[in-house]
Amino acid sequence: MPGLAPLEIRQQFPLFFHHPELAYLDNAATTQKPRMVVEALTAFYEKQNANIHRGIYGLSARATQQYEQVRAKIAEWLGAAGPGNIVFTSGTTAGINLVARSFLEPRLHAGDEVLITAMEHHANLIPWQMACRRKGAKLCVIPMSRAGELDMGAFREMLSGRVKMLAVTQVSNTLGTINPVEEMIGLAQRKGIPVLVDGAQSAAHFAVNVGAWGVDFFAFSGHKLYGPTGIGILYGKEEHLYAMEPANFGGDMVRNVTFEETTFAPPPQRFEAGTTHIAGVIGLGSAVDFIRQLDTPAVQAHLKELGQYARALLAEIPGLHFVGEAHQSSAIVSFVLDKAHPHDVATFLSAENIAVRAGHHCTQPIMDFFGIPGTTRASFAIYNSREEVERLAAQLREIQKFFA
Ligand code: PMP
Repeated sequence: MPGLAPLEIRQQFPLFFHHPELAYLDNAATTQKPRMVVEALTAFYEKQNANIHRGIYGLSARATQQYEQVRAKIAEWLGAAGPGNIVFTSGTTAGINLVARSFLEPRLHAGDEVLITAMEHHANLIPWQMACRRKGAKLCVIPMSRAGELDMGAFREMLSGRVKMLAVTQVSNTLGTINPVEEMIGLAQRKGIPVLVDGAQSAAHFAVNVGAWGVDFFAFSGHKLYGPTGIGILYGKEEHLYAMEPANFGGDMVRNVTFEETTFAPPPQRFEAGTTHIAGVIGLGSAVDFIRQLDTPAVQAHLKELGQYARALLAEIPGLHFVGEAHQSSAIVSFVLDKAHPHDVATFLSAENIAVRAGHHCTQPIMDFFGIPGTTRASFAIYNSREEVERLAAQLREIQKFFA
């Protein structure tokens, strides 16, 4: 295998020319953008800008064509049946909210159950919690071990006839755990339970095939896969999307409107009311091109290696404890130091040009589970190197000595 050359890849990211010393280890929050994505955005605004759909003139027709081409490209990339399965959203959060509101709520009744896991991001927790509250249903939580692995035995037992939805993250943004989503989809669907997979942390680095998995919904955000902010994807099975009422109403999502009545456009248009983030869609298309030109097994091997290297070096630091030690984990490493608050750790690291995140990472129930206020989290991407891991470990040693 040729392997990945992170330093060469780093040169494709303009931000690092402006911050040459920066070890950017906050990729689970958002990734940096390669030049081709930045240029696609600029080129759109400079040469191509017009509103899409219904424009008769050339610019608008071309903008529409580009926009719809991205939909087709993403459908192919995800292994979807076709572009009709791909809804442009503002991000993972918006996609999950749409499913909770428009798909789940109308079929949820008092006494029903919705299953999520103990390691969900708030974005894959609160929308279901709200739907349950409005309908008198119960939110049930699949437990996990201290290592941050789901209890699959408990999960199997929880799959009763009362369950109307399963929502699970493929990769935990806090623990790094990779969940066995394919197995979970199979088990749930055998009982007729629809499944949403939160792909916010997985779409960039894992081969996703929604068609082969048979998953009902899959949501992710462009900004975590080297694309722009404010744009994301909701994949949905055709029959579900057709069964769903739109959640937002306005222009570009209708077939016919009178003062008495409105008929909606077919999906996915019916879920894209108003002027969408057109440039964002173009930029996302470019990000997918960028990812597709990479060697996926090499990307996965590189990230696995970085994650393991980080865990190996950090494990030697006295007083450092990992939060999340799943057997299957991605390049996300959360930890606490005995004497130092996570925010102090991140502040010290920032002074050494190392960017990490500290806090609850929008997963407060995970913090409650471990009885901690927060963690410090290093999360890696394709442009990160072993040398940056070594810098992180060396500085953590200093911080630990300082607080000792
Ligand atoms: N789910 C997971 C697992 C995440 O990591 C995030 C972002 N941190 C989200 C959902 C929400 O993504 P966004 O803020 O882009 O909507």
